Amino acid sequence: MKKVLISALLGLTFACTSQAGTLHVGTEATFAPFEFMDEQTKELTGFDMELIAAVAKAMGDDVKVQNMGFDGLIPSLQTGVIDVTAAAMTITPERVKRIDFTEPYYQSGLVILVKKTDLDKVKDLDSLQGKRICAQIGTTGAMMAKHVKDAKVTEFNSITEAFMELKQDGCTAVINDKPVVDYYLVRRADDTVTTLPQVFDAEYYGFGVKKGNKAMVEKLNAGLKKVRESGEYDRIYQKWFGANK
Ligand code: GLN
Repeated sequence: MKKVLISALLGLTFACTSQAGTLHVGTEATFAPFEFMDEQTKELTGFDMELIAAVAKAMGDDVKVQNMGFDGLIPSLQTGVIDVTAAAMTITPERVKRIDFTEPYYQSGLVILVKKTDLDKVKDLDSLQGKRICAQIGTTGAMMAKHVKDAKVTEFNSITEAFMELKQDGCTAVINDKPVVDYYLVRRADDTVTTLPQVFDAEYYGFGVKKGNKAMVEKLNAGLKKVRESGEYDRIYQKWFGANK
């Protein structure tokens, strides 16, 4: 009888352990080439999706990805709905007060996207004073837009909607991450828009975890290190950005 109970308990422990082998990842999948839906396979894909899967694999875990609004990611970490964000999330001082981050895994920056027909009037951030600026809700692009004097800022749930609004002349500019804007320009072949030459501030993306979850940060950093050392990071980088890092 005792034996049965012990093996039942062992079975339970085993079940719990294998359960813990799933890394619950939160993302916001309108952000190509980092996270987006592959139209053909209907699967989430992109640099972040492949990188976090490789990191999890290096740690012996599977991933389960949940797609949600960008502004829902930090609350979902805090309530334990997800273990980690993989969402091109910039490590900012404000966010560091609320969550912890892994080592940076990608260097980015912000750019301003405008209509080519406006290039004579809009040359820099200052010339957006008093104008309408579009951005994605809760992002560093939206934060920068709000610092422009008298600018009217419209925040959209997805960056796709912000791009659309610019196309339809609903705003003068979109402020967003450079690699995402570059990808949009190449893929969508929208030749009515272009970026201003200046790239703002180096921004670093990190995977976010619940504040104080030191074990998870260490585990992810160890996975990231393995993935860098094995050459997997370079392979994924090369696939999405076409250059070695
Ligand atoms: N890197 C930007 C930020 O962290 C945008 C991220 C995103 O929209 N997914 O705010």
